Amino acid sequence: MDGAREVRAPRGTQRSANSWGAEGALRMLHNNLDPEVAERPDDLVVYGGNGRAARDWRCFDAIVESLRSMAPDDTLVVQSGKPVGILRTHDMAPRVLIANSNLVPKWATPEHFREFEDLGLTMYGQMTAGSWIYIGTQGILQGTYATFTEVANQHFGGTLSGRWVLTAGLGGMGGAQPLAVTGNGGAALCVEVDPTRAQRRLDHGYLDEIADSLDAGLARVEAAARAGDAVSVAVVANAADVFPELVRRGVTPDVVTDQTSAHDALNGYVPNGVSLDEALELRRTKPSEYVERAQAAMAVHCRAMLDLQAAGAVTFDYGNGLRGQARDAGVADAFDYPGFVLAYIRPLFSRGAGPFRWACLSGDPKDLAATDDAMLATFPDDEPLQRWVRFAREKVKGQGLPSRICWVGYGERHRAGLVFEDLVASGAVSAPIAIGRDHLDAGSVASPERETEGMRDGSDAIADWPLLNALVNTASGASWVSIHHGGGVGIGKSIHAGQVVVAEGTDLSRRKTELVLTNDPAMGVIRHADAGYDIGLDTARDVGVRMPLEPGTHGPAWQ
Ligand code: NAD
Repeated sequence: MDGAREVRAPRGTQRSANSWGAEGALRMLHNNLDPEVAERPDDLVVYGGNGRAARDWRCFDAIVESLRSMAPDDTLVVQSGKPVGILRTHDMAPRVLIANSNLVPKWATPEHFREFEDLGLTMYGQMTAGSWIYIGTQGILQGTYATFTEVANQHFGGTLSGRWVLTAGLGGMGGAQPLAVTGNGGAALCVEVDPTRAQRRLDHGYLDEIADSLDAGLARVEAAARAGDAVSVAVVANAADVFPELVRRGVTPDVVTDQTSAHDALNGYVPNGVSLDEALELRRTKPSEYVERAQAAMAVHCRAMLDLQAAGAVTFDYGNGLRGQARDAGVADAFDYPGFVLAYIRPLFSRGAGPFRWACLSGDPKDLAATDDAMLATFPDDEPLQRWVRFAREKVKGQGLPSRICWVGYGERHRAGLVFEDLVASGAVSAPIAIGRDHLDAGSVASPERETEGMRDGSDAIADWPLLNALVNTASGASWVSIHHGGGVGIGKSIHAGQVVVAEGTDLSRRKTELVLTNDPAMGVIRHADAGYDIGLDTARDVGVRMPLEPGTHGPAWQ
């Protein structure tokens, strides 16, 4: 792309903008495009297909210039990656307001979107690409970690120690599974058909061992679980062979899931009964035969998961489409085990918990260490958080500005924010801290095929919630607020909002941080209480989230 250049976030304690709110946005925009962070920085693509940070380099330059020159009480307005105006507002107002990829519903199709994109009228902002708070692959690992933590909480008293997990697929996202399981204290047996994928996870420290055979892998993992050791072991084999083999042997893992790329029967899932090389040849030469074999294999794979569930294993789908493929191939009860958002993430969302994250604007790793220490000291009884922070600081390789992600809930986020304010005010960290989150959060997304699938009151497609969330964050004093369409699952399928607040260590910034980090997760609690979720209702009552209609007395979930 014309004008491509290498950008990195400015570091240090001196700002070039007239406020830390604008400086935070400036540094995080640059950070999203840091070659360490972005997938295709030359094209301004940060992650997730075409998720961009700015519409083009000219717009990038104009955003940077605007952020540097505007007054401390100005607000920059960004329309799909292009700065369109600088308005005089006030010092509690956001320094940047962003709307990305939004279309009137009747026109909200991928085809129309591409037309408008070709005309230079819009840009795809994904979730955190166009809203300048992407922090690299730490997010995938932590999301997987949080899922297994919730599995542990719901079924095993809060830890996977002494348990073992059977899964498959060690690809881009699935490769986070072994480290996420061991991080929760468990042992993992990971079935991967492609030896190079297993080797890559070993090389990158996400996997501990590759076994020579199923027998060896199984023995290692069962022994580790008995001893309470956290060990991950890969077996190079096909899941459609291994899973039913365990059923035949009467071996029942504690937990079963799968992250083979089952969503794609031609270019993703590998059928059994042929070697990997033969399968790849078949994919090229006889695609319809390949798809038939892959679907038959997925039916066998899913049937074995149902059998393992019946034998007592905690079994869930990891959003890869295996159940749908198996149902189409004749497994009528394929959906008898639940999907991961429904089973494990929704209870977290219901209490306002979600992917809280922060970046140290100084660029100094010592500042990240100070914030990690502060989180450990602030939440001494939150065992999963304690385990995650210790684990992440040892195992997660930094990308761009020093940053961290932690799932914390309503009542905890503003406490963490105020602790960070103290760190900045006292000089324990050398510069302000940007505190934000993914758009995949409790009260900020409507996405009927993912985050809001199967809502209790049927409100899956109701998109008032993310819009209200953005308005609430604007009213509360976030440093930048965004409303996007199409992130995660594609154009036409989701609407979502984001916020970032910069902790500057001043009285004004304390006020904003407290309000934003209270009200933002409160919208998650309210959204879930309103939909009739018990945890949401209990949380709202316990912590005094005010709802004008007594939760539980109004709406279809309650009739
Ligand atoms: P990927 O294509 O990078 O990796 C898939 C892996 O599965 C490959 O290594 C492949 O060799 C292996 N595989 C394929 N067929 C197999 C078989 N029969 N037996 C054993 N191994 C087999 O995909 P990815 O990015 O890792 O994503 C995996 C799936 O998880 C996708 O369908 C994705 O949509 C889904 N998913 C993940 C998350 C998450 O948070 N991690 C969330 C939602 C959905």
